[in-house]
Parts: sequence; structure tokens; C-alpha cells
Amino acid sequence: MVRFTVLASGSKGNATVLSGGRTRILVDCGLSCRELFRRMRQMGEEPETLDAILITHEHSDHVGGVAVTARKLGIPVYFTEGTHRAWMRWISPRKNLTYAQWLEQIRKQAAERQAEVPSDGSMSLGWQAEADVAAEVGEPEECDFVEAAEASPEAAEPVEPAKAKDPTWLPAVEYFQAGEPFEIGDIAISSFTIPHDAADPVGFVFQAEGVRIGFATDLGYIPPNVKAQLKGLDLLLLESNHDLEMLRDGPYPWAVKQRVLSRVGHLSNEATAEFLEKVYDGQAAYVILAHLSESNNLPDLARVTAERALIGRASLMANRLLLAEQNEPLFPIDF
Ligand SMILES: [Zn+2]
Ligand SMILES: [Zn+2]
Repeated sequence: MVRFTVLASGSKGNATVLSGGRTRILVDCGLSCRELFRRMRQMGEEPETLDAILITHEHSDHVGGVAVTARKLGIPVYFTEGTHRAWMRWISPRKNLTYAQWLEQIRKQAAERQAEVPSDGSMSLGWQAEADVAAEVGEPEECDFVEAAEASPEAAEPVEPAKAKDPTWLPAVEYFQAGEPFEIGDIAISSFTIPHDAADPVGFVFQAEGVRIGFATDLGYIPPNVKAQLKGLDLLLLESNHDLEMLRDGPYPWAVKQRVLSRVGHLSNEATAEFLEKVYDGQAAYVILAHLSESNNLPDLARVTAERALIGRASLMANRLLLAEQNEPLFPIDF
């Protein structure tokens, strides 16, 4: 059975669980470890059964809980190298190092780690990031370790002093390249580059047990390479971030509005509707609108805009339209 459960979606945190065959992965980890586990259990998923975490890009609403969660579960995190670099740079203590000095420091730390932990072949690197929407997302949490210890003392692995000093430490890091297919256990994954203001952001098409799931949030527009990927799907999760008018008249500072609207910002309801109307092949049983802005969108507005696009095409009437939420998990979807 393939099961897809959106635990949270939006600029305050993103996390989705996908299981197929004997494999269970977490796509993005933007909730705190505690909240992630709470929502997983609420949906009947055991956090301890996760095999890996897969990251789309380094904005805090997608990675905020990754270090604590990966450590607690002892599972690998899959990034592109650019995203991993950006994440590491983002959470590393800010020092005035040149890139070469900083890289040297990271290599030294990696060598020390390999000396103290059995080697998993992973190599650590890092670079720069910025928050998803400056108005909604603050600085990275600095209390990761405190939180891990507080969240559930009985489950928390004691953090060794050497690891505790390195906030970028992960049990294992696996790199994939955008555009290069790879597998995690029984789940085959195609990643594709998306236009967004992050180091190396990607969307995914997952395939397991013959079920195909498309996953694309945080993109300023839908370029041809993304259109080409989002075909022949059984489930499509696509961003429907803002209503153009609400954004224009809304509370964000001008600069943030420009950023959201830009070619590397977020998809509007209108842009998503246009894709559904003109490009989408209508094959998915489920279309999930995701990453809705709480300030610049209304669920009804997003739904109606997408419905209008779908209703025009009789072949799409069978598509079930769902909305992923920020504060509540969406019910699990089974295939
Ligand atoms: Zn985001
Ligand atoms: Zn983002």
C-alpha cells in the first residue's frame, strides 16, 4: 500500500509522510521534532518507523526540525549538495571565515566525527540561506538541543559534547542531484529544479508500487521542466500560495510582496489554476493545493479558483480537490 499524509503545509512548517513498499520517508521537516511526532502519531504513523528525511530546500519552514529529528531517529537526510551547504551555513555559528577557511573547518569536523562514529561515508558541506517569507519566518531555532532534551527525555539520545557543539551534525547525509533519479528503499524518486530563491530547490515525483505522486511547492512559476514532470500522476500536490489581490492589498512590506510575486517566489492561486486548466493532464485521483499563505489567501478562495479551472474540463470532474493545512494534518491518502 502507498500512503501519503500531509502533516503540515505553509510558511510556518512543512512535513509530509510517504510510505510505499517497506519504506517510509518524511518529505521536508519544517515542524519541531515534538510537533512532528505528535502529528504523526495522531495520524497513526510511528515516527520510529521512518527510514529517511528528504529535503526540498533550506528555507526554515522546510528544515526547521531536521537536525533534532534525524538525530533522535538516527536516520539519514537526503539533500542536494547545494541545499545541504546552505542549511549548514544557515545554522553554523556566524563567524567571519572565508569560504576556504570555513570549508577547512567543516572538513576537520567531519574527519573528527568519522574518527568517533562508525563511518557512513557521508561528507558534510554547507552554504547560505534565507528565511522563506521574512515576515512570517524568523531566525533559525537555536534551542534545538534544549528542545530535544525537553521534548521527551526518555527518547532523547544523550548528545555527546562534541556533537552538541556542532549544530550541523547529522547521523548521515546523502546527496542527490536535481534531475538525477535515485531511490530510497522501495520508493523511486525523480527530482527536478524549481524556480525559487533558495540555493538548489527541487520538487519531486515519487513512484512506489506503480503509484506516481507529484510534489511541487515553493516555486515562482511553472517552467517547462516542471510541466514535463507533472504528468501521468495519481496524486498531485501543488502550491497555491496566495491570491494576487489579497497579496497586493495585504500586510506584507513592499519588498516581501515583490519577493513572493517574483519568478523565484511562490505560485498564486491564479497561476495554479492556469496550470490546471491549460497544462495538467487530469489523470490524478487527487489534487492537493498546498503551502497556502495565512496572510494572503483564504482556503475557499484557493479552492474556488482551482475548481473553476477544473470544472471547465469534463475529464477532470473525477479529480478530488483537497487543501493541505498549516495547523492540522490532512487525512492519509491510500492507494
Ligand atoms: Zn516554504
Ligand atoms: Zn521556500
